[in-house]
Amino acid sequence: MSGRELRIGEGWDVHRLVEGRRLLLGGVDIPFERGELGHSDGDALLHAITDALLGAAALGDIGSHFPPSDARWKDADSLALLAEAAALVSACGWRIVNLDCTVCIERPRLRPHVDAIRERVSDALGIEADRVSVKAKTYEGLGPVGSGEAVEARAVVLIDRTR
Ligand code: MG
Repeated sequence: MSGRELRIGEGWDVHRLVEGRRLLLGGVDIPFERGELGHSDGDALLHAITDALLGAAALGDIGSHFPPSDARWKDADSLALLAEAAALVSACGWRIVNLDCTVCIERPRLRPHVDAIRERVSDALGIEADRVSVKAKTYEGLGPVGSGEAVEARAVVLIDRTR
């Protein structure tokens, strides 16, 4: 292999959907009658991306950096957590090549929000929006996502050694 050192990371998250909470995905507030239950703001997509990023650099996971037992992270802005994780990864000598994400949710339709999500995530990471892919799927009515009880998010990220 040449001198280039690449690493890949994977992240996954699931949150229960309940009334009286905001539906936040990728830092975008999506109008819907239910939102994510969680200690933080519950943004499942940002949590999956944060885990993928930390995982790629072998820097632990979101729970070890921002433990739910710590009152500092109650209702935390997940964009700020992601930006903090990105700064840590960057300080360790890595830059993001790209990320690819999938959000699994039965309703509402996410397609109209995908570009806003890509912009928000790329801003938090300090990279171009064309390095961020976001896709939406349903579970075809199957399981807790299919019944509308939960939202699931997955992310993979590729990072490149800068020094
Ligand atoms: Mg989470």
